[in-house]
Amino acid sequence: MLTVFAKIDNDRVLSAFLVESSWEGITMNPEEHKMGIRGSSTRQIFFNDVKVPVENLLGRRGEGFRIALNILHIGRIKLGATVLGAMRRAINYSVSYANERKQFGSFIADFGAIKHKMANQVVKMFATESAVYRASKDVEDTIDSLLEQGKTYGQANIGGVAEYEPECALLKVYGSESQDYVVDEMVQIYGGMGFSSEAPADRSYRDSRINRIFEGTNEINRLITIDSTLKKGMRHKINLFEAASEVVNNLDKLQAVETEGKDYYEIKHAFVSNLKKTILMLLPVVTDTFKRDLVHEEEIQMNISDMIMHVYVFESTLLRVEKIEKEGLKPDAKIYRDILDVLTRNTLQKTYSNAFDAIGSFAEGDLKEKLCSALRTLTKADPTNVKESRRNIADKLNDDGLYKF
Ligand SMILES: Cc1cc2nc3c(=O)[nH]c(=O)nc-3n(C[C@H](O)[C@H](O)[C@H](O)COP(=O)(O)OP(=O)(O)OC[C@H]3O[C@@H](n4cnc5c(N)ncnc54)[C@H](O)[C@@H]3O)c2cc1C
Repeated sequence: MLTVFAKIDNDRVLSAFLVESSWEGITMNPEEHKMGIRGSSTRQIFFNDVKVPVENLLGRRGEGFRIALNILHIGRIKLGATVLGAMRRAINYSVSYANERKQFGSFIADFGAIKHKMANQVVKMFATESAVYRASKDVEDTIDSLLEQGKTYGQANIGGVAEYEPECALLKVYGSESQDYVVDEMVQIYGGMGFSSEAPADRSYRDSRINRIFEGTNEINRLITIDSTLKKGMRHKINLFEAASEVVNNLDKLQAVETEGKDYYEIKHAFVSNLKKTILMLLPVVTDTFKRDLVHEEEIQMNISDMIMHVYVFESTLLRVEKIEKEGLKPDAKIYRDILDVLTRNTLQKTYSNAFDAIGSFAEGDLKEKLCSALRTLTKADPTNVKESRRNIADKLNDDGLYKF
């Protein structure tokens, strides 16, 4: 069954059709040779005077583009979830090999550099999973609420997922890039064997790469993340511009995260709040500076989009870890704090470096100085022992022999 987007007669816009590949007039080229996902069929399809019954029109005439867009939202959040399986497989192979292979008289799993890699693999996986759980539950709740308001099943599903367009786009980007990181380190942990087609790293590495390309490339999804966030703000679905004005009008009053007398989670939430302020600080300044020309400033859009993505994933992970500890959902809550501590460092660094590049790309003089000073305040943090945190994460992975977080 093919979902085909095509124009009826001289229509300006597309319609969508369900077409069976056995129908007369349809021919296909042979299977294409691909770098990866060789179990998935990719062939050129030719349509020659194919007769499509009217009942096979999907939706209404002219709705093709809208349908395609809504499918893409669903495809993106699903991709964020799908890569979790591939990451888990890669991590499990990595830990298994690291505990088999000996060098210099030790299992390579015992070397700090390898523990660092394995811990980062776990952090990426856990963080992606946390963000996927959060966004999926939000989508599900919205679908339920639309159903209660009398929408049909189809309308509720389309409406529910469309409400979370930025989350779908950023999960696609974060998930696919996390997977690429995880499989790349898998190849490295396997060393020379990682480059051999005899070992499983070969297939994981090749299969992973497509995820940054299809369902809209990661460049396009980064543009969608910022564009759809701004649109949600304009439609007052989120309190964006009011919150942004508040930050911009009080740049000199911003404060670094205060740790004295605060508990662990209060501090983490304060970091989330400050990191959100870095985004809120930049959005109105950038939109005011460039106005409609912002579309020609893709580099700056990418910077802000990455900030939105990392902060969303960080907050999702924080909420999950806090819930695990406060509701006693796992016997060893401490290990999740280690994951969160590593992610905190990563998120602070990513946010700082993206904001720093964005500011340097457009601001000058007094404005540049004010923004940089605010950025330093908002991202100020004392060093934490991330080496120890990573070792703890890797030790648990080694003890379990599998990803069990
Ligand atoms: C194995 C496979 C399976 C696929 N399956 C499907 C499917 O089932 N259904 C379907 O509809 N499609 C499918 N696709 C198509 C896929 O979605 C597209 O290949 C993908 O969206 C990229 O489009 P493109 O190949 O035309 O690249 P291009 O658009 O030519 O992009 C080339 C490069 O330019 C960048 N670029 C393009 N425009 C911009 C811009 N405005 N700003 C910044 N950078 C830009 C891209 O990010 C990319 O890096 C599949 C592709 C592959 C390889």
